[in-house]
Amino acid sequence: MKKEIYINGRIIGAEGDFSQKEAMVTGDGKFLFFGKNEEAEKFADESSSIINLNGKFVAPKFYDAHLHLIEGGLSLERLDLSNVRSKKEFQEKLYCFSKKNEDDWIIGMNWTEKNFRGEVPEKSWVDKVLPDRPVILYRMDLHTALLNSRALEIAGIDENFRPPDDGKIERIEGETTGIVKDAALFYVNKFIPEPSLNRKLSALKKGIEEAEKFGLAGVQEMLFDIRNLEVYKKLCEERFRDNFHISISIPIEKVNDFADKDLRLCNNVKIVGVKGFADGSLGAKTAWFFKPYKDDSGNFGLQTGALKSGSLLKNAIIADKMGLQISIHAIGDRAVNEALNIYEKVRDENPDSSIAHRIEHAQHVLPEDIKRFRELNITASMQPYHLYYDKTQIVKLRGEEEFENSFPVKKFIEQNVTVAFGTDFPVVGLNPLKGIKLITGGYKEEIGNVGSITIEEAVKCYSENPAKTMVPDIDAKLKIGNKAEFIEFVL
Ligand SMILES: [Zn+2]
Repeated sequence: MKKEIYINGRIIGAEGDFSQKEAMVTGDGKFLFFGKNEEAEKFADESSSIINLNGKFVAPKFYDAHLHLIEGGLSLERLDLSNVRSKKEFQEKLYCFSKKNEDDWIIGMNWTEKNFRGEVPEKSWVDKVLPDRPVILYRMDLHTALLNSRALEIAGIDENFRPPDDGKIERIEGETTGIVKDAALFYVNKFIPEPSLNRKLSALKKGIEEAEKFGLAGVQEMLFDIRNLEVYKKLCEERFRDNFHISISIPIEKVNDFADKDLRLCNNVKIVGVKGFADGSLGAKTAWFFKPYKDDSGNFGLQTGALKSGSLLKNAIIADKMGLQISIHAIGDRAVNEALNIYEKVRDENPDSSIAHRIEHAQHVLPEDIKRFRELNITASMQPYHLYYDKTQIVKLRGEEEFENSFPVKKFIEQNVTVAFGTDFPVVGLNPLKGIKLITGGYKEEIGNVGSITIEEAVKCYSENPAKTMVPDIDAKLKIGNKAEFIEFVL
């Protein structure tokens, strides 16, 4: 047997132990040994090779616990404006992209006024180069977009247009600037033609390839639109990358439609759960809190209609009895508290259920609610790299102190709560290393020490923990006898 002897590494997660080992040996595609350099070198013979890891980390493959792979794949095909730093460059990029793109609408992503010294782009920037084709360019946070005059016209946005509640159309001296926000943006999105099934399928494949590039072995898809199950069925028919695990959560209000359906679409793609919402987002001030927003004393945020009416609870009980994992989106501390109350009632209805349900985001949590996660066996599903972008907003809307206490990943871990990491791609890119770097203190200048944990803990939250909640039948560990699948990285 030809053996590979890896020395001088920092191997995390060997035999389920998340402390560091310096060496490992593989042979015939399997793990043979983990431990010290000297002992690993004893495996050497004439056919073996020695690989010096030079201090590199080795870890189990990653799993992303929360993302949107079709939307993410589509976003990879759009114009990326993240590195554009002047009006001139903005216009050149837009023009070149439009020449290569045959779609009716031109869609771009990821601009920020930070790159233009604080100047917010306006419709004239786009009109100058593309007066006749509709253009929509999303700001980095996806809650704001710039439209050109043609797009505004198609959406019927003129001087007299009144945006829906919670939405904003920016105007200067009565004239629209092209900037639309929140609910007004959702309204505009309805005018953009839906991509075809084939287009979505190719986007999905692109998303999977991108994920594999970053060492991901699987993901949990939080499906917005139930019609997109067709795209996953097609993926299964083609047996595309059939070692890549995709666990799907469907919208919770559809749970009854799946009562006697086969939840396994194919070997590597299956419906494992449902997702509902307890509140909205911080940016739109709809995340629900016990204390009001800083600059808005009567505003505590909002609970969703489903939470208020009790339908979220009703559907959660049904889902749990069907053996489905429940995920509830909750950002504000009040929403998290109410989601935990729902899980208490779910447990009372079905005390024998052993499913680990989840709370998505869990950004703000009352200190006394942390232990309730453990008592109720709830996984905290968190997206570390969001902090990089959220800091300014949290400080502005909730204050410095609440920022310091936000994202309590360290407290969760100290109290033995399972934490599973993800990205919410395309909200941020798929690369797990960015989140790991951030949460282990790699961006101190930008965000300080909020949430900092050790590299071993971070790797566990990005590998074993999400794997356990998504594909419980998979043994994703670095373990003697297991397939020698691992990733090497530096931070
Ligand atoms: Zn999401």
